[in-house]
Amino acid sequence: MTECAIMLGGNLPGTPEAMEFALRELEKGGFSVSKVSCPFYSAAVDCVPGTPDFIDTAVTGIWQKSAHELLKLTQSIEIAAGRPAQHSSRESRILDIDIILFGEDIVESAELTIPHPRAAVREFVLAPLNEIAPRWRFPNGMSIRETLEKIKSR
Ligand code: ADP
Ligand code: MG
Repeated sequence: MTECAIMLGGNLPGTPEAMEFALRELEKGGFSVSKVSCPFYSAAVDCVPGTPDFIDTAVTGIWQKSAHELLKLTQSIEIAAGRPAQHSSRESRILDIDIILFGEDIVESAELTIPHPRAAVREFVLAPLNEIAPRWRFPNGMSIRETLEKIKSR
């Protein structure tokens, strides 16, 4: 049994519905949702001009299997929500699901890096996560709240 934090993101007109769909599919797939943050809105970074704003929502929950099994589930939900299997990481997307924290595990494999490598430097990850899990810690010992304060003070 592992406490996990994941992010649902997207920037297309169907994204809010895709996030509701994702929450239902996560539960069906065995991910027991504990908390869901409010949606956090931010302007696109590193994307072509005119890219719509992003919505990001943090979700915590309990998962019984491995991190790779969770990635399989989240990727199948992205595809079921209409994200093309082949896509660039800079293009607009209906639904992106990233695994941010998997208990206290550190995972470094070809297809999975946990904690998510960019989580600790992105306000759009840390701010919604801070709403539902401020005291969870990254493996470096810093809590979500402390990490958010650090990046905002820069
Ligand atoms: P992005 O999230 O940057 O938009 P993608 O969703 O296209 O990019 O993901 C690209 C790849 O990132 C996936 O194929 C997946 O194998 C890999 N990946 C590595 N670590 C993680 C993680 N913690 N959560 C989700 N995907 C991850
Ligand atoms: Mg992703």
